[in-house]
Amino acid sequence: MKIGCEVLLATGSECGVGAIGRCSDDGRAFCMTHQGRTGSWFGMGVGTPQWQVQEWSDLCAPCCERRETEARKRAHDQEVEDRRLAQEKETRYGAAYLTNSARQDLIAAEVPAVEIYSRKHEVIKKLFGGQRTVERTKFQGNGWVLGEFVWEYQNRGPYGGTDGTEKVLTALLCEDLMPRPESWNGSWNEMFVTIAKDAERDLYVMTGKYNWSSHQIKSSEMYSLSAAIRQRAGMIA
Ligand SMILES: [Zn+2]
Ligand SMILES: [Zn+2]
Repeated sequence: MKIGCEVLLATGSECGVGAIGRCSDDGRAFCMTHQGRTGSWFGMGVGTPQWQVQEWSDLCAPCCERRETEARKRAHDQEVEDRRLAQEKETRYGAAYLTNSARQDLIAAEVPAVEIYSRKHEVIKKLFGGQRTVERTKFQGNGWVLGEFVWEYQNRGPYGGTDGTEKVLTALLCEDLMPRPESWNGSWNEMFVTIAKDAERDLYVMTGKYNWSSHQIKSSEMYSLSAAIRQRAGMIA
């Protein structure tokens, strides 16, 4: 017995033309006209001839169309999701996270902060002439010790010097070292400082080894810094 195409026409009745195959999706028999096909365009670019190469499928036309619509929707949803994730990652891990949420997360998790001091040398005039230099420490503020991160420095100056990078113990200060100007453009020197443990006095001292403005935390460290902070705050394992 010859099987007729079972694809429904707009009128509501089956097509009925001699079937050439059966849909692998809904099992309907389909004729040549109602065989699903997908087309892809080939060409050399804008303004050049293009050819549509059709690939015949083992689906009936309605199922093929439905599948293509679903695939397009999936691709679109995936794109939206990818964009959302990328944005979330940027917010969570990027510079924005460090500026806006890092401290709140550490405070909320009650991660202990340590006292951080700065060291300065003072010249003292002796009573009977001459002078001597004494080292003093001054409380700068509280901060969280985050571990060793890469800083870069430019040692250019009247005597030349070498540029370079080094991995140093880094702390995030609880408050900016100096008030941040309105036009603040991304120097991290007000938030992060290099520190060293002064074993003798058992306190953390800022190591201003280089000229303030030419000693910066490397911008590529922002991601690992954020990760370290989130880890300290118990937000990631
Ligand atoms: Zn048909
Ligand atoms: Zn079908």
